[in-house]
Amino acid sequence: MSERIDGHTILIGLMAYPIRHSMSPTMHNNAFAKLGLNYAYLAFDVTSDRLPKAIDAIRTLDMRGSNISMPNKQKVIPLLDKLDPAAKMIGAVNTVVNDNGILTGYTTDGTGFMKALDDEDLNIRGQKMTLAGAGGAGTAIAIQAALDGVKEISIFNTKDRSWENAKRNVDVINEKTKAHATLHSLEDQADFKNEIADSAIYCDSTGVGMKPLEDKTLVSDPTWFRPDMIVFDTVYSPRTTKLMEVAQEAGVKHVFNGLGMMLEQGAEAFKLWTGKEMPVDYIRQLLFSEE
Ligand code: NAD
Repeated sequence: MSERIDGHTILIGLMAYPIRHSMSPTMHNNAFAKLGLNYAYLAFDVTSDRLPKAIDAIRTLDMRGSNISMPNKQKVIPLLDKLDPAAKMIGAVNTVVNDNGILTGYTTDGTGFMKALDDEDLNIRGQKMTLAGAGGAGTAIAIQAALDGVKEISIFNTKDRSWENAKRNVDVINEKTKAHATLHSLEDQADFKNEIADSAIYCDSTGVGMKPLEDKTLVSDPTWFRPDMIVFDTVYSPRTTKLMEVAQEAGVKHVFNGLGMMLEQGAEAFKLWTGKEMPVDYIRQLLFSEE
């Protein structure tokens, strides 16, 4: 890395808090090195109160841009000059691009999800998805899937603080896309089972299955799944969640954790900053092969 950095190195940031655990710096810096690009990617602890100054520093220091993560994904929006239409619909930004002082916000989580399925030669366009969760990840997945041609989306949430957001997502999809979305309560187990039964894909974006809920899953009965469907968990640590174990027990062929989505959301951002394709197979091998 030190051999690559010189007076011309272009800086890209990651602004979130806490963020030191993130895999993104390793992912992007290895991709820059592999392609011989003179960029460096650094993580910065940025709490929401320091976000305005940090965003202004992108302009001041002529950085190429930044990733944005929690708790700043929504709060960054009024600080930007332009918003990609999908980011506007999703209501969150995870990637900022600086073009000569003009900052544009994008969201690559949803496109990363769709691309992760494309990478596996799986196409859910024209089909039905049942999705648990309507937080940051669930919103990006639902709205991007609707924009990309998924026909029917059944969104399940508990009656917690994300319930209103789930309502909003359903309204946005029905008003602004060709897809049809419906809102359901996770408390209605019979309804949950029925909606999964005729879906091409069940996706869990709740984080249930990740610490401290690593022993939990929203679907614990394998008979709810069909072998020919896709089961996708956005969690990537642990690599095999309880949900994935249940799906495997049901004989489901296409069972995924969130690593592919993580990689592809990074690749989308990489392309926005550099104009180049991230060498995803190389990065996948480098970061994830031994686990
Ligand atoms: P969030 O806090 O914004 O949303 C959490 C959602 O889960 C909400 O809809 C909430 O109602 C629901 N939820 C929380 N606890 C629940 C429970 N016990 N039972 C039922 N529902 C529950 O979180 P987020 O940023 O959307 O992240 C969610 C998960 O997605 C995390 O595991 C995160 O690591 C993962 N994620 C993965 C990627 C990726 O690239 N693979 C990207 C973003 C997030």
